[in-house]
Amino acid sequence: MKTNNDITRFWSKVQKHKNCCWIWARCKDTKGYGQFRFNKRMWGAHRVAYYLTYGDPGSLCVLHKCDNPSCVRPDHLFLGSHTDNMQDSVKKGRHSHKHTKHTILTPNQIQSIRKLCQCGTTYTEIAKKYGVSQNTIYNISNRLSYRSIKERWEKIKEKFDKSREKKS
Ligand SMILES: [Zn+2]
Repeated sequence: MKTNNDITRFWSKVQKHKNCCWIWARCKDTKGYGQFRFNKRMWGAHRVAYYLTYGDPGSLCVLHKCDNPSCVRPDHLFLGSHTDNMQDSVKKGRHSHKHTKHTILTPNQIQSIRKLCQCGTTYTEIAKKYGVSQNTIYNISNRLSYRSIKERWEKIKEKFDKSREKKS
């Protein structure tokens, strides 16, 4: 199975935080789950972490106690069925697209969100704090939508300034 080389390679891509999540620092899928290339195939990094620590999870899903998809800390992981996985993600709001509010974040808020992500605060917690979806937080932490948010913010600011000019 996995060689020592692969095991070393795997853990070298993990940012370990004391008393906090261990974050997968390389490529992630669209949901934020770490991806590890091994045997010409991509594997969920959290599954690999589980496998290396506790053994083969077989057909079961590896779930997160901390609800941080990019976390690979073995003691934050547990096994469940696919149904558990669905129930868990509904409970944790990963399927609540209809509740997504269109909140506009300021560049300062985006900076703070990045800092929280770096120290391993879960997307759920940050999303709740700022009233946005976990996807937004994921995009921000991965620097995908910073420009578009900044542009939107600037347009709004421009409109606001113009309306103020008119009044004065
Ligand atoms: Zn964790």
